[in-house]
Amino acid sequence: MFDNLSYKLDRAFKTLKGTGKITEINVATTVKEIRRALIDADVNYKVAKEVTDTIKSEALGRDVLISVSPGQLLVKITQEELTKLMGGTKEDISLKGDPNVILISGLQGSGKTTFSGKLATHLKKQGRQVLLVACDIYRPAAIEQLKTLGEQIGVEVYAEPENKNALDIANRAIEYAKKNGKKNVIVDTAGRLAVDEQMMNEISDLKKHLDPAETLFVVDSMTGQDAVNTAKTFDERLDFDGVVLTKLDGDTRGGAAISIRHVVDKPIKFISTGEKMENLDIFYPDRMAQRILG
Ligand code: GDP
Repeated sequence: MFDNLSYKLDRAFKTLKGTGKITEINVATTVKEIRRALIDADVNYKVAKEVTDTIKSEALGRDVLISVSPGQLLVKITQEELTKLMGGTKEDISLKGDPNVILISGLQGSGKTTFSGKLATHLKKQGRQVLLVACDIYRPAAIEQLKTLGEQIGVEVYAEPENKNALDIANRAIEYAKKNGKKNVIVDTAGRLAVDEQMMNEISDLKKHLDPAETLFVVDSMTGQDAVNTAKTFDERLDFDGVVLTKLDGDTRGGAAISIRHVVDKPIKFISTGEKMENLDIFYPDRMAQRILG
């Protein structure tokens, strides 16, 4: 994860090694390299500029302690600023309502169904009763995929394969959950390969009528700047509560993880790092910043 970015940042900090103090000139060079590394990693240009401007003024404003080299100080400041950029502290999903409904949105292939299974596993481990709902009415294979996942993790799946009305299915699933003591209902919805009006209408309609405690937007981190743009489009229509970044185990350059919070102003709540049901992590901005810096 982020190997290339970590390497380039490390190289940028090394340009400061050996110099005894922070000066405008040597900081400017390093900061320029940090900016280039971030842009190469697909971080939005404006975000990269803003964060590096802050790093620069922070560095120039701080006294270097005898025990800390300018390079170490810049690493520390960069870590602090990346942490802030990614939201500062972790944010939990809200679990309220009877039942507590969690709506999962995102493009096709982003990892919605896989994430739904992972979230169900996560909640089940906390001793909660969960019902998964298959609302991907266009792809019979998606319903089968969710059923298979449900069997694998021991979580019941509600599906009506013949029904083509997602809201209808979700409403009946909620009734079913109430009758059967399932306090948490995860609704997996249909995605498309790209944003389209029908999908947006369908998912906004589900949100309006189901009034979920939590609406999550799932996005493939490998798609870089596109991930951020798609998040913006979904948020304008859905006003979702949090982001799930998937496929961070792959060859992602990191840009989405770094810029999504700043551009969309919604927290990343989970990250997914593999296809196995256990590969779900709560997102901690400080740990991610540490990982980025290698
Ligand atoms: P959906 O169309 O949004 O429901 O997406 P799926 O859940 O079907 O996922 C699409 C593909 O991505 C599947 O092959 C998943 O196994 C894979 N996938 C999902 N999440 C991850 C992840 O975090 N890492 C990796 N490597 N693959 C993932």
